[in-house]
Formats: sequence, structure tokens, C-alpha cells
Amino acid sequence: MTQDAAALAELLRESRRTVIFTGAGISTESGIPDFRSPGGIWTRMQPIAFQDYLSDPEARRLSWQRRLEMEETWNTVTPNTGHHAVAELLARGKASHVITQNIDGLHQQSGVPEEKLIELHGSTRHAKCLDCDARIEIADVLTHFTAHGDAPDCAHCGGLVKTATISFGQPMPEGEMARAEAAVRACDLMLVLGSSLVVYPAAGFPLQAKRQGAGLVILNREETPLDRYADLVLNAEIGPTLGSVIERIDTL
Ligand code: NAD
Ligand code: ZN
Repeated sequence: MTQDAAALAELLRESRRTVIFTGAGISTESGIPDFRSPGGIWTRMQPIAFQDYLSDPEARRLSWQRRLEMEETWNTVTPNTGHHAVAELLARGKASHVITQNIDGLHQQSGVPEEKLIELHGSTRHAKCLDCDARIEIADVLTHFTAHGDAPDCAHCGGLVKTATISFGQPMPEGEMARAEAAVRACDLMLVLGSSLVVYPAAGFPLQAKRQGAGLVILNREETPLDRYADLVLNAEIGPTLGSVIERIDTL
């Protein structure tokens, strides 16, 4: 175990209530590209803003085409060592909540219970009506899309149907924001895993933790703008690092 990993293990040992904050970086070891790394999704395609989704049928078509192309990936990806380590920290009572920016559902798959998981940017695993909030299964939307070239309107109210993710320009989910704020307010250590920490308001949570006197640890391959506020920065791979920390979990 590296000196940094040992220091992380020690901070976890002292903590009573850690909150884990994850970004796309925790899922790269499962084969899902992140946004901002070299070769990341944004080097290949531009995100579709919420306003464009609302106003432009072509933007909606493109959005669902991309979702269709990801379906096989979403059906085959599995959680990696990092996800399992996070689930283990919760199961052992070391961490109270996971706040994630990810939309991939891999924290659930690794066994993090819904009541301890806060998906700030929603989920790509189902769709929602933008008007009445009804849940719609992705398979039903994709069947319609494949046959007709567009997504169906909501069967209940005729509203627009969108993946249950939060796009740029889309209001943040109030319930999830409130849950995240409460979890952070109660934490004594914030552990950031695989986030470039440039997307707000999400990146405000590590800052909130620091402001209220909690410890802050950032584990990320590259530097982030919040490194200077952190008590410990580990520029390392998430899986191997957390894996080695978890091996010592019995002594934590
Ligand atoms: P980001 O792409 O901006 O940053 C990811 C960070 O993780 C980078 O700084 C990178 O250096 C680091 N990283 C990548 N793999 C790593 C590894 N194995 N070990 C250590 N560090 C690693 O992602 P973000 O901060 O989450 O922000 C952007 C948005 O991306 C979020 O809103 C999220 O919804 C979306 N997104 C989600 C997924 C997903 O659900 N898996 C994938 C791509 C993007
Ligand atoms: Zn509806």
C-alpha cells in the first residue's frame, strides 16, 4: 500500500460519517469513457442542451439515437473494484451516503441501497415524461424509436419523453439536491472519486463539506480545481487504490 493510500485508510478510520462523491472516473475501469479525459465522450460528440431537446425534434432524435447506440453497453457493463469498495464502505457503516454525478446505475448494481444513493444527474436506465414525471421503460421507447424514428409521447399526458438524466440547462432535481445537502451537512469526511470537479452545482458539495469543517480527500488521476482545499490529494487509479484500502477495512 502506498503512503497516500495508508493516509486515506487512516482518515477513514478516524471518520464516523463519510460521504462519497463520485464522477465519471469511477466507471472508466468498467469500460465507460468519462467526459473530459483524452478519448473521453466530449472529444467525440457535443452534449445536447436541454433547451435544444425541448425545441428541436432533430435534437431529440439524435439524443435517442445515441441512447440506442449505448443500449448494448448499458446491458453488459458491470461494477468494478472501485464500485465494490464504495459499497463495502457503506455496508461496514464507514460511509453514510454516495452522491453521484453518474447516470450509469453501477452503484446500485454493486449493492448500494437506494436510500443511501443520491443520483444528482439522474439515470439513463429509465425515461421520464417531462410534464407529468411518469416513469417510462427505456425498452418501450427504443422499440418505438426503432419503428418510427422518434420517441413516443407520454401515454398519460402527451408530454415529451426524455431519459431520466439531467442535461445542461435542465433544472436540478430538488429532492436529490436536498438529500445531498442533508448528507453533506452531517458528514465529517468527504471522499471525492473520479470527478474533474468543474460541473456545478454538483462540485459545490465538496466545497460545502470543507466549509463546515469536514475533511476533504480527492482521489483522481489528474489535478482538479479543488485540490488546494483538500486535506489529501491522491493522483492515482481508483480501483487499485481503494482496493488496497478496503483490504485493511477490518482494521478501520
Ligand atoms: P469528468 O469526465 O469531467 O471527470 C472525470 C475525472 O475522472 C477526470 O478528471 C479523470 O482524470 C478522472 N478519472 C478517469 N478515470 C479514472 C480512474 N480510473 N481513476 C482515477 N481517476 C480517473 O466527469 P465528472 O466530473 O463526473 O463530470 C461530468 C459529467 O459527466 C457528470 O455530469 C456525469 O453526469 C457525466 N458522465 C457520466 C458518466 C457515467 O455515468 N459513467 C460517463 C460520462 C459522463
Ligand atoms: Zn406525462
